[in-house]
Amino acid sequence: MTKALLLDIEGTLAPLSFVKEVMFPYSRERLGAFLREHWDEPFLKEIVKEAEEISGRELKTPEEAERLFSEWIDRDLKLAPLKELQGHLWEEGFKTGALVAPVYEDACRKLKEWKEKGLKLFVYSSGSVKAQKLFFSHSDCGDLTPLFDGFFDTRVGSKKESSSYEKIARLTGFKPEEILFISDNPEELEAARKAGLKVLQSVREGVTPDGRFSQIRSFEEIEP
Ligand SMILES: [Mg+2]
Repeated sequence: MTKALLLDIEGTLAPLSFVKEVMFPYSRERLGAFLREHWDEPFLKEIVKEAEEISGRELKTPEEAERLFSEWIDRDLKLAPLKELQGHLWEEGFKTGALVAPVYEDACRKLKEWKEKGLKLFVYSSGSVKAQKLFFSHSDCGDLTPLFDGFFDTRVGSKKESSSYEKIARLTGFKPEEILFISDNPEELEAARKAGLKVLQSVREGVTPDGRFSQIRSFEEIEP
């Protein structure tokens, strides 16, 4: 019996295009100014220090840091300090209203319904937990954060490793077979299935169906 749902964001709860076409360009555009404005603040010093350790490069000025982070964005490297920095940038964007999260209407409706029925809802995304919470608290169907019982990011491990799903099962207190994982990404689904979770592929616009998995086109089709 399914007791908990573990949900991917991009391609599952929200369009893939928002992150690529809105959030990343926004973070890229604001990066330089943001680094200059907050350069002496402890939170940013911590992020820059972590980036120096990973890259082996010295980052003495906001410009040097901007160069490195821009490279990471261009190469789509999902590294912890970059995610952390983007979390801060997006926080600014969502708080000023420059960004509003587009959550699929059927997902909004069903999440509320499932929550009322007592199902536990968790999010697992490669975006940082901070970014996830920001996203759901500024969605076009309101603040959705109270619906979720927990948020996971790559700090528990890669979404393509089955050990990450085993870890999430332990952390949430559910048996793997009690958790239904929904994602558009076949590699993530394969990893979750290997860990014993039930899986469904979300096939929204721009996603290729993979015959190895059962598919849904809308959350209306899910009977947990
Ligand atoms: Mg996805």
